[in-house]
Amino acid sequence: MALIVCKFGGTSVASPERIRNVAKRLVRRKQEGHQVVAVVSAMGKTTDELLGLAAAVNQNPPTREMDRLLSTGEQVSMSLLAMAIEARGYQAMSFTGRQAGIVTDNTHNKAKIVSVDSERIKDALERGYIPVVAGFQGIDENGDITTLGRGGSDTTAVAVAWGIGADVCEIYSDVDGVYSADQRICPHARKLDEISYDDMLEMAGAGSGVLQMRAVEFARKFNVVIHSRSAFSDAEGTYVKEECDMMEEAVITGIAHDTSEVKVTIRGVPDSTGVAAKVFSALAGNMVNTDMIIQNTSEDGITDISFTCPGADLERAKETLKRVVPEINAREVSIDESVAKVSLVGTGMKSTPGVAAKAFNTLGEADINIVAISTSPIRLSVVVDAAQAAEAVRVLHHAFDLDSDAVFEETQLSAEEIAAKMAKGR
Ligand code: ASP
Ligand code: MG
Repeated sequence: MALIVCKFGGTSVASPERIRNVAKRLVRRKQEGHQVVAVVSAMGKTTDELLGLAAAVNQNPPTREMDRLLSTGEQVSMSLLAMAIEARGYQAMSFTGRQAGIVTDNTHNKAKIVSVDSERIKDALERGYIPVVAGFQGIDENGDITTLGRGGSDTTAVAVAWGIGADVCEIYSDVDGVYSADQRICPHARKLDEISYDDMLEMAGAGSGVLQMRAVEFARKFNVVIHSRSAFSDAEGTYVKEECDMMEEAVITGIAHDTSEVKVTIRGVPDSTGVAAKVFSALAGNMVNTDMIIQNTSEDGITDISFTCPGADLERAKETLKRVVPEINAREVSIDESVAKVSLVGTGMKSTPGVAAKAFNTLGEADINIVAISTSPIRLSVVVDAAQAAEAVRVLHHAFDLDSDAVFEETQLSAEEIAAKMAKGR
């Protein structure tokens, strides 16, 4: 018998029928002899719809009211799920974030959990109930409702799992686990049986969107085992945990790509002391998250500086540079939005020389030009033209022996379709 947290995302509870299916699944887990706690997201696109409603009445809604509004989505799904469980003859009880003892700081819209008191949930479990917890929300010290940021229900699930000392936190979604690459662009991608927290975090940071990054960070900190699996099948998914059996062999665990970054180049920069400091301090001061930075060697005391940043930060970057560029006497700024970042991730990289050389050779042979490079001990990222990103993922996946024999056939997109998709993804 195990103690399990089962988290269901928006797609899995998008309709009454799907909610009934979730109830069935939870009841089955209980019949198998396990103790289960459910955590739910809002139904389907509810959160987006609520955001739309808010925007229709106020372009800049107060964050406190926003959280109050957004938290209702999860309260609808939690109650419906509890009712659906009761309809199958089992006892269920729903809990808001506050009732589940999720206390956060007061940063509305992206609050951080500061403590978890799971007494009520443990008590309900002991009395034979299936507790159903609203994801994504908590309460601050003033008693105001907060939300944890988009995708925050994953974090709730991990927090609840930690609070009750669960054996595993099962995260059900419309994907059946973590893959070595995005199947839609890399049909030979393989499902990973397990992945370490570190690799998962690098994959998530590099654009692989299966699990919310904060949830994985939380899980690593408190050693909660996550099982990412499909809401629509019984197949085993991917376990995210500290130690992985297969880790010794594999150099590369997976390849992630991210089309949301943009490249900004400042041209004609006088190559003098303190210029870079000025530029990047100003960017940081305006909350621009710079990722890769490249400074060309100077000719006649003039150089170019390029950096990449999330597309979401581009407006702020432009604003900042409008001010700074004249101050440093640079010539102009140019922006390239059609770039993508492709990252090789793997703890095994730390002890294996030659990964970079092999990656660069592979890309070179495929005629893919590298615009920028960055590395960490367990990640190697390159920036390439967005139109070549899918091809880059495929050739690297093949070169590092990640290809599975099974081919994913559902969406075999043409190169043009993929490029169009990626351009839109931004
Ligand atoms: N409903 C929230 C969102 O859409 C939280 C979640 O789904 O995890 O972001
Ligand atoms: Mg979600």
